[in-house]
Amino acid sequence: MSRVLQAEINLKSLVDNFHFIKSITKRANKSTKIIAIVKADAYGHGAIEVSKCLQKNNVDYLGVAFYDEALSLRESKIDCPILLLFDREIEGIFKYKLTPVIFDINHAKELSEYARKKGVKIPVHVKVETGMGRLGIYENICEQVRKIANMPNLSIEGVMSHLSIAEDPLWSAEQINKFKELKKCLSNLGISPIFHISNSAGIFLEDAIFDAVRPGIMLYGYSTKSVLDGIRPCMTLKTKLLDIRKLPKGTPISYGKTFITKRDSLIGVIPIGYADGYFRRLSNRGFIIVRGKKAPVVGTICMDITMIDLTEIPEARVEDEVIILGSYGNEKITAWDIASWADTIPYEVLTSLGSKAKKKYIYETEGMYNDFRESKKS
Ligand SMILES: *Cc1c(COP(=O)(O)O)cnc(C)c1O
Repeated sequence: MSRVLQAEINLKSLVDNFHFIKSITKRANKSTKIIAIVKADAYGHGAIEVSKCLQKNNVDYLGVAFYDEALSLRESKIDCPILLLFDREIEGIFKYKLTPVIFDINHAKELSEYARKKGVKIPVHVKVETGMGRLGIYENICEQVRKIANMPNLSIEGVMSHLSIAEDPLWSAEQINKFKELKKCLSNLGISPIFHISNSAGIFLEDAIFDAVRPGIMLYGYSTKSVLDGIRPCMTLKTKLLDIRKLPKGTPISYGKTFITKRDSLIGVIPIGYADGYFRRLSNRGFIIVRGKKAPVVGTICMDITMIDLTEIPEARVEDEVIILGSYGNEKITAWDIASWADTIPYEVLTSLGSKAKKKYIYETEGMYNDFRESKKS
């Protein structure tokens, strides 16, 4: 049997989410550009397909973390501008026309030197610290950016920073003010690139929308608010029931005997485990949708296998499709639900579960969830 963990990625939802983000940012600033973040294999959705789809919809930029991600996009004939967020690559920048983010002055020097030797000029974005405490120029910022601007064969196309708690308007205002001051200082020096500081959550702060925004999670249908009208999750995850067993009251289930049946039970076995990104933390905490009903995970999650209690769902059959993420009828499991059961965030849920699943791309306006299929053997 081939791998049965399947991620269905609805590209129509991606496109709608993209246009929704555009419509919000346009209200604040008509010419705001969208830098669509497709790092970590597009948050587990498949960077190549997602990027192709966004490129078709005229995205301004794609953003990736590392050089090899950018390379695989270029090799798949994706030719729109790509911002390289966290890499010191030099040669490949020129070869594949990538736009590097400079977070350190030595990197700028090396790029400038290489560009001068090649006799070309390259656009760069400079990252500055405003309160994230991760990467970016953090001392005499205006002066250092001026130095970079004066380096031969570099042209500062953008200046960027990153919000650390976009949900907190007060703290974000402090970051935004620092960013605005820098903008003023650079403008006085005659340096006026595009500015961008906003991730998905920042898009709701009108002040944080400068000349571009960098949405990631919102493209995939999630926001920092657990429910957000206007966007739809793109990913549905399914697998099939591997077995159903009728076990008497008092039967221990899985490693460590962390669950013992409290009644005569029907226990379903599904072929997904922590090696698939189904966190072990979900042991005795998670749920799976079977025939439109929620079945609790029972016992410890194994590497490739998870057990669920089907006692309340006697109509379930071996090889029924079950939903790990998505909805059927009135039941729904979102990345937020899984995140709350496992004490994490939707980002980790999507990147963990999406990365191992076999992907199938669909383009459907409605009912991304509603295509449950019963086992033919029932
Ligand atoms: C990941 C990332 C984003 C996107 O963040 P979301 O919260 O997913 O919208 C934006 N900018 C940078 C620099 C990032 O690393």
